Amino acid sequence: MLQSTEARTGTAIGAPWPESTLAEINQTVAAAAAVADSFGATSAAQRASLLRALSAALEADRANLVAVADRETGLGLPRLNGELDRTTFQLRGFADVLEAGTIHASIDDAAVAGAPPVGRPRLTRVRVPVGPVAMFSASNFPFAFSVLGGDTAAALAAGCPVVVKGHPAHPELSRQTAAIGQRVVAEQGLPAGVFGFVQGGSIEVGVQLVQAPAIAAVAFTGSFKGGTALAKIAGERPRPIPFYGELGSVNPLVVLPSAAANNGAELAATLAGSICLGAGQFCTSPGIILVQKDAASDAFVSSFAAALQGLQPHAMLSAPIRSTFDKGVARWRAAEALTKLVADDSTGAAAPRPFLAEVQAANFIQDHGLHEEVFGSAALVVRVGSVDETIAVLRAIGGSLTVTLWGAETEDEATRSLVRAATQVAGRVLFAGVPTGVAVTAAQHHGGPYPASTQPFTTSVGYAAVDRFLRPVALQDAPAWLIARNGIPG
Ligand code: NAP
Repeated sequence: MLQSTEARTGTAIGAPWPESTLAEINQTVAAAAAVADSFGATSAAQRASLLRALSAALEADRANLVAVADRETGLGLPRLNGELDRTTFQLRGFADVLEAGTIHASIDDAAVAGAPPVGRPRLTRVRVPVGPVAMFSASNFPFAFSVLGGDTAAALAAGCPVVVKGHPAHPELSRQTAAIGQRVVAEQGLPAGVFGFVQGGSIEVGVQLVQAPAIAAVAFTGSFKGGTALAKIAGERPRPIPFYGELGSVNPLVVLPSAAANNGAELAATLAGSICLGAGQFCTSPGIILVQKDAASDAFVSSFAAALQGLQPHAMLSAPIRSTFDKGVARWRAAEALTKLVADDSTGAAAPRPFLAEVQAANFIQDHGLHEEVFGSAALVVRVGSVDETIAVLRAIGGSLTVTLWGAETEDEATRSLVRAATQVAGRVLFAGVPTGVAVTAAQHHGGPYPASTQPFTTSVGYAAVDRFLRPVALQDAPAWLIARNGIPG
């Protein structure tokens, strides 16, 4: 059963309702499969119109949607209004991309007379929609990574029908958002199968969706545990399919001595704010802070701990998320190699206290448990003796959505090697600011080596996200009419 719950109090809102049955999941996928061909053949203008209408419909229902989201997530009206702005912006942004014509741009190699390898036929490389996409919402972004979020926008832009699996942590918001999506699809004169929606209070619904034979790709945003379990299922199907999993991340942030010396106190306050933003429930929340051992770095750590001590995160999204956070902190509390810097006990309190501890680089590298994300307002300061040791720590972490380097302004061999190491482990490398906040642009890359993502060559944020749902096909000696249609038979 699904139950809408007041996040701040845990009180049930209204009556529970049943999750989708296997028959309903199969019916929803069959409806998507039945329209995949015709939806894939729609013009870019038609799909742009759909995306703009979805954006407008969300905007029209803003006050209600934000209120429902606030009740179910406790994230607060300013944050949720901002997230809805981003969601409507990215729907319109994908429409702009469709109208610019770049999504269906082809590469054309003219025929060359003569024997191979110089001689060749005419080859035209085009991209075709993969087919029905299963989309898993995350709990911590009830708009931007949920029912009409970035993955849905990218898949629809590509010409793929979508079947969304709503997140049970905001079930009422999910079903209301899905109803908007279904209404807009009908108003656009498109068949209902273009946008399907299923809901589950158990993991079975998601498993059955991934196993449905007509699903052609999966877009997932969520935990490492859930993502790796579903990726395995996608890979073990009789016909394995691509699984685009955006998972948890520890987001190392390196404070070089020059940054600590120049404006350490200000940076420390900024960092503490980033860790407590939204109770730390961001995949980009900085969790590992690498600091050297000189006097300015010591002062930075003191200011950072003091700033964090003064902040109070709000209640977390759901009881399961809070319980996972408490377990993660308990694991860190028990680790002998850690010195606790901010470690107030918040057992039983509605909102958690931030947690900060310090560990020496060698101990951190050895203890793989410390490399795992603790989702919430918790961070580890890792003390490093040199740039080489900083690089060793980054390599031990292995894969992350982001690495932030503060103080890399001077070009020298050590800084260059640090930047190389950062680009090897992260999808996005920042040289200023904090990693929370991911701009939706053409250049954005939100992914990174495993375990940040199961597909490090692709992004789930920004307009390149559409590439996940378009499969390249080389047309050899295609007839003129097909070339004239950009390789799309229509
Ligand atoms: P989650 O619990 O993994 O939920 C995501 C989805 O996966 C839900 O629909 C959930 O369904 C399903 N699921 C989880 N475990 C499953 C399993 N074993 N089998 C089948 N389905 C399963 O994650 P969340 O609470 O929404 O989000 C928190 C995590 O997401 C954090 O680790 C955060 O870092 C990460 N995140 C990553 C990004 C990114 O872009 N990389 C963005 C946001 C969040 P049920 O609840 O029905 O089981």
